[in-house]
This record gives sequence, C-alpha cells and structure tokens, in this order.
Amino acid sequence: MEIRYFGHRMTIADTLVKQVFADVPIRRRDDSLSVNEAPDDGLLPLDLFEDASDLSVFHERAPDSSESFPEIPESLSRLGTYQWMASPGIITLYRGNIEVYWKSLIQHAQRQFPFITTKDAERVLQLLVYSVYQHERFHYVCDFCRRLLGGSFDRWHEEALAVAWEWQWLRSQDRWNSFYGLMHPTLRRIVVQAMFDHRSPGYRDWRQFANQTAFHDAVTAYLYPASVQIFANTAFNFAAWAVAHIPDDANRAWDEQIEP
Ligand SMILES: [Zn+2]
Repeated sequence: MEIRYFGHRMTIADTLVKQVFADVPIRRRDDSLSVNEAPDDGLLPLDLFEDASDLSVFHERAPDSSESFPEIPESLSRLGTYQWMASPGIITLYRGNIEVYWKSLIQHAQRQFPFITTKDAERVLQLLVYSVYQHERFHYVCDFCRRLLGGSFDRWHEEALAVAWEWQWLRSQDRWNSFYGLMHPTLRRIVVQAMFDHRSPGYRDWRQFANQTAFHDAVTAYLYPASVQIFANTAFNFAAWAVAHIPDDANRAWDEQIEP
C-alpha cells in the first residue's frame, strides 16, 4: 500500500525528517513516558543545540543543479543537489548538513523566542527538508523542459527561480491543519526570514519572483518562451502546469537518495 503525506507519495523528504528527529535526545525522553503521565509537549531545552554552527554559513550557497557532483559535499551549506538526467536524474539530500542547518536555525530562533516546543522543532525540520526537496524538484522540471523544448541553461537565473519556487510552495502549505499552519507564528516568521535570507549570486535574486504572477511569467520565459504565442488568448498558464505536473510522482524520471 502506498503511504501518502500531504497528498504526496512518501518521499525521501519524509524519511529524512524521521531519521534526523529520531536521533535527537528529546524524543527518547518522550518515548519513555508511562501511560499514566500526561503527554509531554514541553519546551525544547535552551542548551540542546548550543554547539550548532553559525547560521551565516547557510546564507552562502553554491549552485546545486549540474551534470555531476563530488560524492562528499564540498561545503556545509550544500543541503541538496540535482544531477541532470542521464537516464534518470538524481535528487540527493545531504543528511548531515541538513541536520546542522536545522540545529543552527533552532538555536537562532531560540535567542529571539525561547518557547519552542519539541513538536514545533520537528515542524521546523519538516519545513527545511521539504523546502530543499522542492528546490531540487524544480531543477528537475527545468532539466526535463530543456530536453523536451530545447531551452538553454542559465545557472544563476535558475537558482533564483528555484528559491522562488520554494517560496511559492511554502505559501501553498499555509493551511491551519498543515505542519506549516500549526507552527507558532512567531517561530515561523523567524525561521522563514532566516531561510530566505540568501546572499549568493542567483539565490539572492529570488525576491524578484516572489509574486506569483511574476514567478509564472519568469518560469514560462525561461522554460518555454514560444508558449507565449502558442497559448496566446487562452487561459492556459504553462508555468503553473509545468511545476505542478512535470514532477508528478506517477511519472517521475528521477532517482532520489539520502547521503550522509
Ligand atoms: Zn538550486
């Protein structure tokens, strides 16, 4: 039987969230509660991640869509990669680096808002992992469209659009019953602000495409400029179709893996 989360087939993103969270000492304490004790959704100890890295490392990112990547990530800020199709493409998530980033984000947030619950800490991890996964899926969409429609690769512009897609995706998760909607609003604001504070070339230009119409126009122009004529005077939105349907789980042409 298929396991579905948030309307998707279970992915390495879900697996990675479980793996990282299972290793955190707070979880073990919860598991040891006897049935007579009240459920403990208590606050995260303030010193839990005091040895976390400085968050600023993660504001600088290298392009993560290419023909190949070294097996060991060359920098701590390498969270995921998309390797272009040669038969399938490959989405890789780097567990160790994502874990360090998560701890840095929590520590950063705790300085401004010390009331983070263990449940919310897990939601921050979900937010982080799903965002990286969505970013890599967007690179797959670009790779696929280049093959199908013959566009050309623009490394920096594509990074700006990939981050803008994370932003668009996040907005679609803003429902009261999603992990994102359930997160404490103050924590959410701090974490999202930090996550989208990009300083590297390409990445930092995502704000130009934060607006959904601007994003769709830019994605259409990048992936399939001819569609402007082809679908003129129709209501068809090529970009909206591409990001929603090309990475459809039933017909996806990528492999995905978690690396340490
Ligand atoms: Zn990227």
